[in-house]
Amino acid sequence: RQTHNTPQNPVRLIAVSNRTAVDPNARAGGLAVALWDSLKSTNGLWVGWSGKVKDFPSLTPTKVTDDGVDFALCDMSKPQYEGFYLNYANSILWPLFHNRLDLVNFDLHNFAPYQETNRQFAKAVEDNANSEDFIWVHDYHFFLIAHELRKNGWTGEIGFFLHIPFPAPDVFRALPEAALMGRALCDYDIIGLQTSTDVINLKRYLVEDCGGKEVGEEDVLVFGRTVTLRHCPIGIDAKNFRKAALGKPAKKAAKKLRRFLGGRKQIIGVDRMDYSKGLPQRFEAVSKLFDHFPETRGVTSFMQIAPPSRSIVDEYVQLRERLDGLCGRINGDYGDLDWIPIRYLARPYERAEIAGLYAMSDVCLVTPLQDGMNLVAKEFIAAQDESDPGVLILSQFAGAAEQMKEALIVNPYDTEAVAQTLHKALNMPLEERQARWKALHKTVDTQDINWWRNRFFAPRGFTQSVPKIAT
Ligand code: ADP
Repeated sequence: RQTHNTPQNPVRLIAVSNRTAVDPNARAGGLAVALWDSLKSTNGLWVGWSGKVKDFPSLTPTKVTDDGVDFALCDMSKPQYEGFYLNYANSILWPLFHNRLDLVNFDLHNFAPYQETNRQFAKAVEDNANSEDFIWVHDYHFFLIAHELRKNGWTGEIGFFLHIPFPAPDVFRALPEAALMGRALCDYDIIGLQTSTDVINLKRYLVEDCGGKEVGEEDVLVFGRTVTLRHCPIGIDAKNFRKAALGKPAKKAAKKLRRFLGGRKQIIGVDRMDYSKGLPQRFEAVSKLFDHFPETRGVTSFMQIAPPSRSIVDEYVQLRERLDGLCGRINGDYGDLDWIPIRYLARPYERAEIAGLYAMSDVCLVTPLQDGMNLVAKEFIAAQDESDPGVLILSQFAGAAEQMKEALIVNPYDTEAVAQTLHKALNMPLEERQARWKALHKTVDTQDINWWRNRFFAPRGFTQSVPKIAT
């Protein structure tokens, strides 16, 4: 295999993802932070969706250059947006990879727009890259990019990172195109996955269904190629997040909330409104806290920030209705003249404001039923202060649980146990809170977003060896 780049002379990085950071508002996001330096220092290119849906989309991507980084932005047609983005990617792949076969909408199953869009984006790469470049493809929208490029004779290195979980082989096999997708994945040289379970799941599929043979710790020999499967848990830009938590907008948001809270303890949840996040179960758990521990009534508030996402997909409409109903019921049952048990805010907030809200909270509830990593867990820890840190309650089904063992780990389906854990967190002595936070903070701070990037690239010129995961 070619590894012709060196730290002094890095090859050009070509990133491919559905959303890009061409929008300055998206620049603070983890992926942008991780890729920006490498894109900038190598005069790199970011290929992605323009965010535009057009009746007659142009066949050639729009070129934009920003701060030394080139973008090639592809438009989509309406049928393509529906068939590729809403249906195949978000109504089939998303639920299936999150272990929700019950929510996979096989009626909407049509592979053609997915294939066509992958071809379109692969062509945008091919027209703008050369074989010395390192191509890094992101997430479940683009399983087929390497396959499309290889069909046209591409021999350069192509990496893939899956931000969501890779399911158990039997779940993956339920995808009508499982064999084709599995084969396509083998055209990548390196595949990064969030957890060691994801690595095991994909390795098992490649061995059991594709005739793969394990070679050494990370490699699988399959279809005559060597594919590296690497455990790369994504991190956050921890130092900057902490700075944001200490900044003016953060303090302003915290002050506003404090005025409303009036000395009560605050439990916080921050999630996209998605069925993978376990929000109904979380509301039930909070309801049980108030039910079983009457002393918490009036002195503890739960605030859930949950901006609706993908709100034209049916399952998301139903989730919204369920949460509206649950919140109304709980507030009706337990609320009082001077106290609202659950504050449920279905809108997005600025990153800096969220940092301030984490910083002032006593407990953070991160209880997804399944999650690739979950960055909220890491952000909450980064925002805390050592002198009086809050407590993280974390689902065993979040990828983050593998690294963040000092959190209070819960089974989100067991709402009774989550209620008990909430009670424990609200009463945890300062020394225990500090000890847990210190250990968690060390992980979040050292295994940050740049650590993640270096781990994926190693030993491909950006770093020389695979950084170890602390256990
Ligand atoms: P996912 O990628 O599935 O949405 P993550 O927890 O990994 O879940 O990442 C979510 C990101 O979105 C975090 O950086 C979090 O701060 C941000 N976020 C979540 N809810 C909101 C909100 N209401 N307003 C603004 N940002 C949000």
